[in-house]
Order: sequence, then structure tokens, then C-alpha cells
Amino acid sequence: MTVNVGFVGLGHMGGPMCARVAGGGFAVRAFDLRPEAVEAAVAAGAAPARSAADCAATADVLVTMLPAPPHVEDVLLGSGGALAALPAEALAIDMSTSSPALGARIAEAAAARGVGFLEAPVADALKASEGDLHIFVGGDAADVARARPVLETMGRPERVVHVGGHGTGYAVKLLVNLQWFVHAAAAAEALVIGTRAGIDLYTLYTALAAGPARSSFLENEALEVLRDGDYGERFPLGLVAKDLQLALDLAHESGIPAELTERTGDLYARVLDRYGPQAGEMALLRHYEDLAGTSLRFEVRDGG
Ligand code: NAD
Repeated sequence: MTVNVGFVGLGHMGGPMCARVAGGGFAVRAFDLRPEAVEAAVAAGAAPARSAADCAATADVLVTMLPAPPHVEDVLLGSGGALAALPAEALAIDMSTSSPALGARIAEAAAARGVGFLEAPVADALKASEGDLHIFVGGDAADVARARPVLETMGRPERVVHVGGHGTGYAVKLLVNLQWFVHAAAAAEALVIGTRAGIDLYTLYTALAAGPARSSFLENEALEVLRDGDYGERFPLGLVAKDLQLALDLAHESGIPAELTERTGDLYARVLDRYGPQAGEMALLRHYEDLAGTSLRFEVRDGG
């Protein structure tokens, strides 16, 4: 029997994810506010829908991949009317990075309508088009089992992880990102302090990248700036700020005095002010380069 999937939000992430679902044997109807994004989804095998509610009306499974909580709320609960349009017993899966509090309200509204709801935010964005995302699923086990065939077109089975009940999927994703933001700030400071101390940048970089606090951040995103001058525009500062605020909210709700999270939030707020919401996530490093009055670049050398 054909499973019908509605897909709303076809941006940097949703575009390739929708293409994976359409290529995985599902009948997909796709919607985005940007007509060109819908055209790209149609070229990848989806059918076009006229609205989020139109997308939902025929869906067994509705996937949303939207920028931030206000968009998710609007599409599912507000003017988008998608949750209300879902057939009985359908399943809604929000894959955006959003807030546990909003997730709880959506889960409640879904239960009142007799439809299921899962949150399934993602990491490892560069692997979206190859279907190898890391997916953190929060919600009921029976719904997770129902969702797996669709989710496994976007992430290998072992990377589709049921992390707990409603709220935990969003929370894990926020903490994964928080850790990245803190690593990025620590590495940027070490690089600029070391350069100012007269250490050759490539020598310093290789020492940090091989040291006991080596990280995927140093091996990947930092290298892309230092070697290639790529500041990561595909994940803009506006989304970084949104994620950090949601992580701060989570920290405040936990009652734990999260000093490093607060300081990192302040730092990124200054970076956002200075470079604007469209600048890439690695504008943080540019901020330190500007403070030091130097550009952090090297050419990779054989033998260190
Ligand atoms: P994006 O801005 O590229 O795409 C969002 C899409 O949603 C846009 O095409 C926009 O037109 C559409 N949209 C907005 N409001 C809509 C509405 N009411 N109805 C229909 N479509 C609407 O964002 P993205 O980079 O794809 O990120 C999506 C989510 O994934 C965010 O929550 C982000 O934090 C998260 N995320 C992004 C990355 C990344 O590297 N970009 C990585 C992991 C997670």
C-alpha cells in the first residue's frame, strides 16, 4: 500500500530531505512559501501542494522542516492549519530545531485530534542529500516504529535514535548544538591568542587538532575557514542565535547555573549584531580575526 507523505519546508535542509523521501518509494506532496523550492521538489519526484493544509489533507505522515518555533507553530497549529487538516490516525513529524515547550503543546493538540506527533530534529547537515543524517526522535515508541520507514530514507537505521518521550528529541538536538557553539568559541580564542603570541598558525592548528581536546569542529568547520576562507553561510547566524536562545531557555528551566552557556550566548549576540543574521555560523572566527586585526589563514604543509 502506498504511504502518502506531506513535506512542508523545502530549504537548505528540507529540500534534500524531501528528495530522499520521494526517492524512497513514498508518494510525496510538498509545499514551501517559495515557489522555486516547490519546483525543485517536483524535479526530485514530489507532487506540488497549494498550502501546508493541502499537503496535510492526504498525508499518512506529515513532515515539517521549518526555520524556528514561530514557523512551526504557525504551520501546525496556527494559520497553516496543517494539524487540523490531517486525516485521523495520521502522524506529524517536526524535524525542525524547535522548543520542547512548543512540542508539548503540539503533542497535546495532536492527541486531542487522534493523530500522532513526533519531534525528530537532525544533525550532520552536510549528509542530508546522501540520507545519512543523525536524527534524534522524541515521542511514543509506537509512533517511532510507524515513522521509521520514512525517517530511514533520511538517516541510516542506527542514526535514527529514539532518545525518549516528547521534548527529549528537541532537547538533545539543542544540547548537541550548544556543545558545538562552546567548542567553536574556545577554539577561536585559542587560535587567535596563539597567533598573537607569535606561534605559526599551521603549527598551532595541528597541535590543537591532535591534542586531547581535538574535535570535529577543529577537523572540519575550523579547517574550512583557516584553509579555504569558507565561513559556513549555509547555516546562518540567525539560526545559530535561535538555537542558542532555545538552549538558554532549556538551561534556565533546568535551574542549573549554566555560566558557559550564558557567556557563549552573549558572545554570539555580539557577533550577530556585528555581521547580521545572514552571515555564516563561522562569523564567530571572523569576529576574533577582526579583534586581532589579522586574517587566520594557512596552507596545509606536508609533515606539519
Ligand atoms: P531554511 O531557511 O533554508 O529553510 C526553511 C524553509 O521553510 C524555507 O524554504 C522557507 O521558505 C520555508 N518556510 C518558512 N515558513 C514557511 C511556511 N509558513 N510554510 C511553508 N514553508 C515555510 O532553513 P534550513 O537551513 O533548511 O533549516 C530548517 C531547520 O533545520 C531549522 O530549524 C534549522 O535550525 C535546522 N537545521 C539546520 C541545519 C543547517 O545546516 N542549515 C542543520 C541542522 C538543523
